Amino acid sequence: MAKIAILGAGVSGLALARFLVQGGVSPSNLTIFESGSEPGGLCRSKVIDGFTYDVSGGHILFSKDQEAMDWMKAETGGQGAFDERNRQTKIRFEDRWVHYPFENGIGDLPDEANFDCLTGYVHAWHQRSSDGSTAPDTFGKWVQWRFGDGIAKHFMDPYNEKIWKRDLDFLTSDWVAGRVPDAPIEDVIRAGIGIRTEGYTHQSVFYYPKTRGFQSITDGLAAGMVGSIRLNTPVQEVRQRGESVTVNGEEFDLCVSTLPLTYTPIIFPEMPTDTAKAMTELEYNGIASILVALDRPEHPDLSWIYLPHESQGPANRVTYMSNYATLNAPEGKTSLMAEVTWPGGQQLPGEQLEKDVLAGFVNAGIMKADEVLFTHRSTADHAYVVFDAMYGKRQKVALGWLESVGVTPLGRFGRFEYDNSDMCVIKARELAKSMLTKL
Ligand SMILES: Cc1cc2nc3c(=O)[nH]c(=O)nc-3n(C[C@H](O)[C@H](O)[C@H](O)COP(=O)(O)OP(=O)(O)OC[C@H]3O[C@@H](n4cnc5c(N)ncnc54)[C@H](O)[C@@H]3O)c2cc1C
Repeated sequence: MAKIAILGAGVSGLALARFLVQGGVSPSNLTIFESGSEPGGLCRSKVIDGFTYDVSGGHILFSKDQEAMDWMKAETGGQGAFDERNRQTKIRFEDRWVHYPFENGIGDLPDEANFDCLTGYVHAWHQRSSDGSTAPDTFGKWVQWRFGDGIAKHFMDPYNEKIWKRDLDFLTSDWVAGRVPDAPIEDVIRAGIGIRTEGYTHQSVFYYPKTRGFQSITDGLAAGMVGSIRLNTPVQEVRQRGESVTVNGEEFDLCVSTLPLTYTPIIFPEMPTDTAKAMTELEYNGIASILVALDRPEHPDLSWIYLPHESQGPANRVTYMSNYATLNAPEGKTSLMAEVTWPGGQQLPGEQLEKDVLAGFVNAGIMKADEVLFTHRSTADHAYVVFDAMYGKRQKVALGWLESVGVTPLGRFGRFEYDNSDMCVIKARELAKSMLTKL
């Protein structure tokens, strides 16, 4: 039987291993190399003094692929291992809540802002309909073209500048297809004059593990692979040797890598300079997740909220972590979690960041300073793929070269694709299927 190396024990590597085993591969033929001291990668969570939070931003389980979601639940202990929640997302705008998506919530805005947004939307719609223009290539121009200048000014521009940390015209517009809801003009007019429209029903119900955070899912996958996972074992060198591949000097017939493409050149001594340059120049953002444990017995019914404005501090999104699962906070306490992004490879501020996050929360009116019990920070270097004009070209070079030396790329940063964990599972399932036909 072929010996298979999987690089990285995040959800992609673990799901691939489980699908291969379920397809008949013996776990003794699988080796998963993981540099960390525990599996899970970006899906990991932490429990601090009874407060649970996800270390790479708030994670929820949902999928358009029911089979993939059922499989993830089954690997975690079944439906009974999850709390089910209705998605309640809002935008904090000055002293009020605005329904999400923003264009369906403009009736919640102060009158002048509502007027700006509604007239801008109608102008943009009229412009597009009369000149038949196609979507502009850059994201900043796309926002104006799609939503008009009111929504751009009051929400889309400040929010996106916060999360992407780039000029919005540095980003391309192609990644938004299917990610940003496309509201009919009638719905936006209804919203503007105060008739409620829903807008966005995707993820209206989601699931979250009852205990140990989102990591419960990767713990469940890892539990089935215990003998195959080598923790604290960084991949330091990969070489092609004829039909096989060596990983840290050990020979394998097949190798799948989920390691971030930007790290990959260091471990491939035989990589041509141009390929290494394409990989290291791929753009990405890291994230700091800051748990805020609160001496507050109850939260409003919110899942997560968006903070578009500078006065609300450096966090772009806040997860109501203790609302995700009953056991995410000790009885009588609650928690929030701030997400702050930063450009990949750069240094994050020190403890001033926590001070700024808390001051922003107080300013936004979502908590009081004297409710804070403690904060706890986790960081992930790679959180978001940044889609710039060079992205497609660089990614093609990177993936093409890996395939050419017998290494199959998989995973969010293993392929540099904007995938949630369910998509990682779906892609692992497809790859396992094709590998099983060749074994
Ligand atoms: C802010 C944010 C919010 C998100 N929200 C959701 C959500 O709500 N729902 C959802 O389903 N998904 C969500 N996701 C996406 C989800 O986290 C990812 O899709 C998924 O975790 C990616 O898994 P992966 O296995 O591809 O990569 P990773 O988790 O990055 O796994 C790669 C593994 O490789 C290891 N590694 C790295 N270098 C080496 C080395 N040299 N040697 C050995 N091992 C190495 C790492 O330690 C890691 O364990 C979110 C992501 C972010 C950033």
